Amino acid sequence: MTISVAARAAHNIASDERDALDVRARRLAMRFNDCEAREILEHAIKTEFPQQIALVSSFGAESAALLHLVAEIDPATPVIFLETGKHFAQTISYRKKMADRFGLSDVRDIRPSAETTVMNDPDGDLWKRDADACCTLRKVEPLSGALAGFDAWITGRKQFHGGGRLQLPAFEAAAAHIKVNPLTRWSKDDIAAYAEAQDLPAHPLVAQGYPSIGCWPCTHPVAAGEDVRAGRWRGAAKTECGIHGI
Ligand code: SF4
Repeated sequence: MTISVAARAAHNIASDERDALDVRARRLAMRFNDCEAREILEHAIKTEFPQQIALVSSFGAESAALLHLVAEIDPATPVIFLETGKHFAQTISYRKKMADRFGLSDVRDIRPSAETTVMNDPDGDLWKRDADACCTLRKVEPLSGALAGFDAWITGRKQFHGGGRLQLPAFEAAAAHIKVNPLTRWSKDDIAAYAEAQDLPAHPLVAQGYPSIGCWPCTHPVAAGEDVRAGRWRGAAKTECGIHGI
């Protein structure tokens, strides 16, 4: 399936606006690429995009540090959780636990509409036949709608994830938004050190060999030495869900 006309319309911008977004993102990246994550976030939330920015979080294996940093800066920052209906039960309980612990007051569970789901995935097994279409239905299109009205969104992507993330800047232009990647230069050790220093609860599946956690049908444990994301869509060419194309 493809993104609906309504969702596209919400994000269609003229080419001169797109050029302006590119210029703004490049200016911000030049200024902040070498800055600490907290400084990047404080500027984005309080100065550059006040009331116009949301954090998109999967409440996955590496999510705690970013949720904690955002909560310390402003716990009323909107947090978008894509409730695909295919999460591990442990992720759903972790989402509640972290929101309560950090005092996040505006966590939004974003679901595909019932009508669209019945039409495109009546038996709930689209992931077996067409994972790209399933991600579009359950992640890309709902996020596209949820981001309407925001100028920017915060991601947890990091350069060490590899692939297309190796050169990830602190700020980048997307189709109709600016994306903020405050942890882009963090390593695995940085994440672990921050979690230990702040006594952050780990996602319960990390101890079972899941260093990256998405929907249960498409997430598998990884062996020692494998890439962090090797268990995502294991055996398929697919490596991303598509939300970063929005
Ligand atoms: S990760 Fe898997 S189950 Fe989740 S939306 Fe994508 S294809 Fe569907």
